[in-house]
Amino acid sequence: MGVTVRRDTELPDRLAEAGRRVGVALTEALDWIRPAVNAVTEVASRPEVRSVIERAEKILRRRPCLCFCARTHPCDVGICEPFDAVITRPHNSDLLGEIDVPLCAPCAAARAAREFAG
Ligand SMILES: [Zn+2]
Ligand SMILES: [Zn+2]
Repeated sequence: MGVTVRRDTELPDRLAEAGRRVGVALTEALDWIRPAVNAVTEVASRPEVRSVIERAEKILRRRPCLCFCARTHPCDVGICEPFDAVITRPHNSDLLGEIDVPLCAPCAAARAAREFAG
């Protein structure tokens, strides 16, 4: 199909026809996938699936622990619960100054213990 600058009176008709065909194709495609969409919706409304989705949403809403474990409590690096930050603690960052960092409970305890021990 060559591109010509000349005014093509057929073009609007052709575009309308192409648009109509795309519309028909889309409608047909939607008719075709609708049973699948319905099936997914039906599955998603089942209680056991809902509980999985709700658990995933809860995890997504969680705050990550941004403790620098290896630096702030190197003796207990493995205790971190990386997606269960419960409190924030001020952290002195060379780059940002004092910032509030979300920490999980075990990390907060480990940091406090280290601070206490000096
Ligand atoms: Zn930590
Ligand atoms: Zn942690």
